[in-house]
Amino acid sequence: MTGDALAGRLRDIVGSQHVLTDADLKAGYETDWTGRFQGKARLVVRPSRTNEVAAVLVACAEAGVPVVPQGGNTGLVGGSVPSGGEVVLSVRRLDEIGEVDAVAGQVTAGAGVTLATLQAHARAARLDFGVDIPARDSATIGGMVATNAGGIHVMRFGHMRQQVAGIEAVLADGSIVSRLSGLQKDNSGYDLAGLLAGSEGTLAVITKVRLRLVPQRPHRVVALLALGDTAAAQDTLTALRPGLPSLEAAEIFYREGVELVCEHSGLLPPFAEPYPCYLLLECAGRMDPATELIEALETSPPGPLSASREGGTPRRPADASPILDTAVATDRPGRERLWAYRELHTSAINAAGIPHKLDVSLPPGELAAFERDVRALVAGAAPGARVILFGHLGDGNLHVNILGVPPEDETVDDLVLRMVAERGGSISAEHGIGRAKLRWLSLTRSEADIAAMRAIKQAVDPSGILNPGVLLNTAMDCGR
Ligand SMILES: Cc1cc2nc3c(=O)[nH]c(=O)nc-3n(C[C@H](O)[C@H](O)[C@H](O)COP(=O)(O)OP(=O)(O)OC[C@H]3O[C@@H](n4cnc5c(N)ncnc54)[C@H](O)[C@@H]3O)c2cc1C
Repeated sequence: MTGDALAGRLRDIVGSQHVLTDADLKAGYETDWTGRFQGKARLVVRPSRTNEVAAVLVACAEAGVPVVPQGGNTGLVGGSVPSGGEVVLSVRRLDEIGEVDAVAGQVTAGAGVTLATLQAHARAARLDFGVDIPARDSATIGGMVATNAGGIHVMRFGHMRQQVAGIEAVLADGSIVSRLSGLQKDNSGYDLAGLLAGSEGTLAVITKVRLRLVPQRPHRVVALLALGDTAAAQDTLTALRPGLPSLEAAEIFYREGVELVCEHSGLLPPFAEPYPCYLLLECAGRMDPATELIEALETSPPGPLSASREGGTPRRPADASPILDTAVATDRPGRERLWAYRELHTSAINAAGIPHKLDVSLPPGELAAFERDVRALVAGAAPGARVILFGHLGDGNLHVNILGVPPEDETVDDLVLRMVAERGGSISAEHGIGRAKLRWLSLTRSEADIAAMRAIKQAVDPSGILNPGVLLNTAMDCGR
C-alpha cells in the first residue's frame, strides 16, 4: 500500500482532520519532551474510539507500517516518538471518563485522559488517585499504564500497575481484549492488565483502564529538611517512618539542583544558607497531620543506619540530630512553594541543555555510596559535565541528570548504568527502557528474562508492528 493509500484508508476510519500529514502539524508529535529523541512520522492518526484504534491497527498491519502509540508525549526515554517512517497513533482523543463508582471505589478512564483530569474527577467524588507525577497536566492514563509510572506517592500507594483493576486494549491484529468489570477477585487466567503495565506500547494499544481510587486526604503538611548528605537523609527517613503513617512522599535533592531551580524560576533559596542535601516530606490525612510530623521531627532519634555504617563508627554523636534546618508549610501556597524546589528540577534541567537522563534504583544500603561515587565517575569520564541528582528517596530511586555531554555520546550513560548493575540496582526505576536504554537491558535482566519477553512479544505481535526498537530489539527478534 502506498503512503497515500494508507492515509486515505485511515481518513475513512477517523475522518480527514484526524490524519495529519503536513510537516507543521506532525512536528509536535515527532520530538520527545527532552528534545533528545526525534524522527519523522509517516503520518499522525488520532482515533477517538476503541473500534477506530482497531481499524487503524488492521490498516497499518496490512500496509506493513509500524505504529508508535503516543499519549501525552512526556515519556523521558524516547519511546513515544518515531525513529523514522512510522505511523504515530495518538490516543489523546480517547478522553472519555466514566462516573466514579463509589461502592467499588473505582472509575473507568479512556487512555487519553490526563492525570490532572482524573485527579479532579476523583476529588469531586471525595476520592483521589494514588499515583501522582509532576507531568500530571499532560501525561495520560494510557501512557502511565504503558510505562508503569511511579512518581511521588509510591511509598504509600504503589505504582501504576497496582492501581489497575482492569484494562481494554487493542492487539496488533486489531483484536480487542477487555476486562473492565473491576472485580476485586478474578483468578481466571493470565493477568493481561498486569502484563500491559510497563509494556511501553510494544504489546498493545491501551484504550481504557479501570482504576482503583484511594480515600481523599484533604489535610496536608510539607517539611523541607536540610541535611549533610544522602546517608543523613536516609537515617532521618528511617527514624521518622515508623511514627508517620501519614507519610506519602520523601523526595531527595541536592544543592546544585536547588541552585539551578532558583536560577531558572526566580524562586528565592529555601534557607538563608545553602546545604548539601535536602529531604522533602509530605504527610496527608483526613485529620491534620501537622502535629504528628512536627512532633516526629522534634523527637525522632537519629536513624539506626548512622551508627552501623563505615565500619561501625558513628558519623556524628549518637544523640545529635542530622537535621541542619527545617521549613514547614501547612497552607497551600507554602506547600506549593516547598514542592517547587523539587518539581521544577526537570524543567530547569531541560532549560539548561539537553540532558542525559538516567532513572535508576539501588538497594537502600547502596544508595548513599552510589550518590557519591556517580559524581566522581562522571567527573572522571566527562570533565566539565554537570551532574544533577534528585529522586524518590522512599523508593531508592535516583534520577541522574548529566548536562554538558553531547546527546549522541553515550560514554557516561554506559559507565553509570554499569555501576548501577554492579551494585544490584535497576537501570530503569520508573521511566522504562524506551529507545534510550535498549542496549543496556541485559545488564539487569537475565538472558532467560529477555527470552521470555521476546516470546511474549512474538506471540501477540508476530510481525513486530507495535513500537519496534522500543524496550526489545524487535527488528532482530521479529524478523523485521
Ligand atoms: C516534568 C516531568 C516529570 C515526570 N515525573 C515522573 C515521575 O515522577 N514518575 C514517573 O514514573 N514518570 C515521570 N515522568 C515521565 C512521564 O511523565 C511518564 O513516563 C508518563 O507515564 C508518560 O505518560 P504519557 O501519556 O506522556 O506517555 P507517552 O510519553 O506518550 O508514552 C510513553 C510510552 O508509553 C507508550 N504509550 C503511550 N500511550 C499508550 C497507550 N495508550 N497504549 C500503549 N502504549 C502507550 C508509548 O508508546 C511510549 O512507549 C515525568 C515526565 C516529565 C516531563
